Amino acid sequence: MKALLLAVVKGEYLVEFRHIAGHTYIIETSAIVLGVYIFSDNSCLLIDSGGGKKFAHSVVEKLREKGLSIYGILNTHAHADHCGGNNYIQAISDCGIYASALERPFIENPILTPLCYYSAYPVKALRNKFLMPSPSQVTAVIEPGKNEINGVEFNIIDLAGHSIGQVGVETPDKVTFLGDALIGQSILEMFPFIYATNLENHLQSFRRIAKPPLQESFLSHGGRINDISALIRQNNQIIDRILETIKKLIEIPKSREEIVSHFISLLGIHVSRTQYFLISESISAYLTYLCDTQQASVYITDGLLLFKIKDSCF
Ligand SMILES: [Zn+2]
Repeated sequence: MKALLLAVVKGEYLVEFRHIAGHTYIIETSAIVLGVYIFSDNSCLLIDSGGGKKFAHSVVEKLREKGLSIYGILNTHAHADHCGGNNYIQAISDCGIYASALERPFIENPILTPLCYYSAYPVKALRNKFLMPSPSQVTAVIEPGKNEINGVEFNIIDLAGHSIGQVGVETPDKVTFLGDALIGQSILEMFPFIYATNLENHLQSFRRIAKPPLQESFLSHGGRINDISALIRQNNQIIDRILETIKKLIEIPKSREEIVSHFISLLGIHVSRTQYFLISESISAYLTYLCDTQQASVYITDGLLLFKIKDSCF
């Protein structure tokens, strides 16, 4: 969700190509890290494709400079800053696209993302490029465990929670790309909020990447992780703080809109309609978690859907 922050230099994106280990490289900008795995035939697998056509063009140019063709793109998830380059790259290279079964429909039918946020065909303000990347065709579904791509085995890790079917990718060089499973420290300091679609799954993802310890891992926003245990702890602390704030708020029953409004004023930021719905979706996920763990309940009174602390849920 950091596509807006991409650095542009003279109309082109400043992309760095760096070797990490064995056949594994990264393409790095100030806003996002893409993984690159180079096969023995000088084709490569991109892990995510960035935020749109312009950025994708810069990525393709950088790979061409290195004498590389694109065999495929493996998307960690369907957010626009991760699959926004798919359409352009697939059109010029006819490459394969790999995604989990739950992310696939969103990549192929981008209207589904704002439709989920809005819960109906969305207002025009939500039918924008930050929520609706150009569609692309997923050619193979990947599942947790070993997946063979161009004769090479990649280990796919279930990191659902940030989005409904997010995955992480470990290359044969033991380099792992974690997508948006964790938020980097510098971003948390600027914006102490953790986006989630399914909070229970998101917390399980933390446990899944906590052990066994990963040798080398990268976040899409935040780059190389130096101390994953500390970062998981920090992410957990922010989630706990959000849960405690919601629990305090709903000691007096409140609608979801009231809770969202409270968080927006707490964060002290002016939000666009797109950002409003991103925060609203996350607050919904936190409320589901509180209900599922019997810490809150939801009911209707006078035509209002209200959340309150402790009672059991329907
Ligand atoms: Zn994301």
